[in-house]
Amino acid sequence: MDITDTLGSINIGYDPSCRYAAPYFFIIGFMPFLSGVKPNRKGMNLYMKKITVITNQKGGVGKTTTTCSMAGGLSMRGYKVLAIDLDPQGNLSFSVGAETDDSPTVYEVMKGQVPIRDAIQQTKTCDILPSNILLSGAELEFNRPGREHILKEAMGDIADEYDYVFIDTPPALSILTVNAYTVANSIIIPMVPEILSLQGISQLKETIDTVRKYYNHSLTIEGILLTKYNNRTNLTRDVEDLAKIVARQLNTSVLNAKIRTSVSVAEAPAHCESVLTFAPHAAAAKDYKSLIDELLKRGEPNGTKEQ
Ligand code: ADP
Ligand code: MG
Repeated sequence: MDITDTLGSINIGYDPSCRYAAPYFFIIGFMPFLSGVKPNRKGMNLYMKKITVITNQKGGVGKTTTTCSMAGGLSMRGYKVLAIDLDPQGNLSFSVGAETDDSPTVYEVMKGQVPIRDAIQQTKTCDILPSNILLSGAELEFNRPGREHILKEAMGDIADEYDYVFIDTPPALSILTVNAYTVANSIIIPMVPEILSLQGISQLKETIDTVRKYYNHSLTIEGILLTKYNNRTNLTRDVEDLAKIVARQLNTSVLNAKIRTSVSVAEAPAHCESVLTFAPHAAAAKDYKSLIDELLKRGEPNGTKEQ
């Protein structure tokens, strides 16, 4: 007796003529697993890559804003999200209202002094592993062999408890950045549409290629994200064309969502909120929502890009 016979015999309204359909239902039920898309604990499908690093060695390009907005935006949609602040300046920690003076931070976690669960704080925006200025000694202090894997080791299996993890990085191609690349599945590169922002892309590519070669073969670049965008200026349009060329060199693309300039973006951190909750109607908040839609969609089985 197989399962279809059992269902037929206990008469729960099951039509035995459908018995040959059972294997198809079985396959359809497992389609998400077969396509690499996994439902989370609440049964929501996880279409995006799990651990994403927001990176660019230039400062002021919107890394922290993007991390906070992506993490906050996905939390608002019911996903469980962890943000990791790997910048000693601690801007992300401040932006979500984390306590960093008397609480353990990512520094103590990477030093092996505190388990990661003891350093994670819950905030209105998302869970955060905060950072503070102590982390600025990382380059000198984290000098043992295998130092590229310190964050990965310290994270252990914590990522399994989250739907998505975002890592904000410092404006440098330092050991901290390499640690982020080593543990991540994908990278987003925010860039402002200014000619100078294209400088330094070759060093970024070199660092990513090196990490791919030695520490993390499956690291992918999700795309270049244009921030502080104003499509009314010719300069922005010219730089956008250049950004497309750069994207091709990096074997990726410029993301369709472009983040427009909004005053509210600078105001939100003072209120310990992402721009999505602080000013949901601001242009930048709408653009970050489009970015989340785009990234969720492109991972879908029939989206623009396979996982
Ligand atoms: P990074 O982390 O790359 O240094 P930030 O996210 O801290 O960059 O952004 C740098 C500055 O630019 C901050 O003052 C931030 O408020 C501002 N900013 C970022 N994105 C926008 C935007 N879309 N509109 C207006 N200001 C922005
Ligand atoms: Mg920053």
